[in-house]
Amino acid sequence: MAPQELKSLVRTIPDFPVKGIQFRDITTLIGHGEGFAATVDWLADGVRISGAEAIAGMEARGFIFGAAVSAKLALPFLPIRKSGKLPCDTIGVDYALEYGSDRLEMDPTSVVPGQNVAMVDDLLATGGTACATARLLRQAGAVVENAFFVIDLPNLGGAEKLGECGVSVAALMD
Ligand code: 5GP
Repeated sequence: MAPQELKSLVRTIPDFPVKGIQFRDITTLIGHGEGFAATVDWLADGVRISGAEAIAGMEARGFIFGAAVSAKLALPFLPIRKSGKLPCDTIGVDYALEYGSDRLEMDPTSVVPGQNVAMVDDLLATGGTACATARLLRQAGAVVENAFFVIDLPNLGGAEKLGECGVSVAALMD
């Protein structure tokens, strides 16, 4: 399926989660079997070419795409979780949101030091989540050079922010 066709499978919901936000809803994309498969194929091609040895996916929608790509390429999947969800010892990173802050955590033993880890998420907006994830993965000893997204909202500057973090961005659609 062509990127334009895949884009038409993403639904836009006005005023979610707050008034004024046009939320890009990937539920309708993953609800279309052929569309989901083509999206995972595109992400997997990028990850394979990047030479990554493992994939990190950010809670929650990064799990949907990241885990599917991991299984397709038989690469380890590293869940990057919201605070307090993992049962094991964790390392964490705090990052700023528009209002307030949030925290991401991971199992530091899931990374082999020097392992090349690619990030996969559904959507890149400001880049705050992906930049924090790169910092966290590096704290665990990973090399992080590439991130793959289904959607990039280019007006929000995420790719530039990730570039400053030393991470290259690829996205299937805007
Ligand atoms: P950022 O940290 O780049 O500003 O925001 C990206 C994160 O927020 C991603 O983990 C993504 O899942 C979520 N996100 C922000 N806006 C949207 C949206 O419009 N649609 C979807 N599906 N996710 C969003």
